[in-house]
Amino acid sequence: MKKREFSKKQKQAKESAKKRIIFFFKEAKNVFASNPSLANRYITLARKYSMKYKVKIPRVLKRRFCRHCYKYLVPGKNCRVRTHKGKVVYFCMNCKKYMRFVY
Ligand SMILES: [Zn+2]
Repeated sequence: MKKREFSKKQKQAKESAKKRIIFFFKEAKNVFASNPSLANRYITLARKYSMKYKVKIPRVLKRRFCRHCYKYLVPGKNCRVRTHKGKVVYFCMNCKKYMRFVY
């Protein structure tokens, strides 16, 4: 009985962590124009939550930050987006590295 309660709690913790991660990405988007370094800070926090609660960052949000330097990415601002052989290629202008995503 106790075990079940615990796992339920854990599930709830994961759920709220996921909500917080989504919230951090939203905030990052909001503040990027005025304060890019704060946006990057939100990404760091989102990643911390993802690691702490072992919650995966939703796939759509994974494209919003650089896999190498973890900076928040805005196409046309600090990253370039190209499609190449059926893949989306992001070029991060901060660390000059590429990320590839399948559609
Ligand atoms: Zn980068």
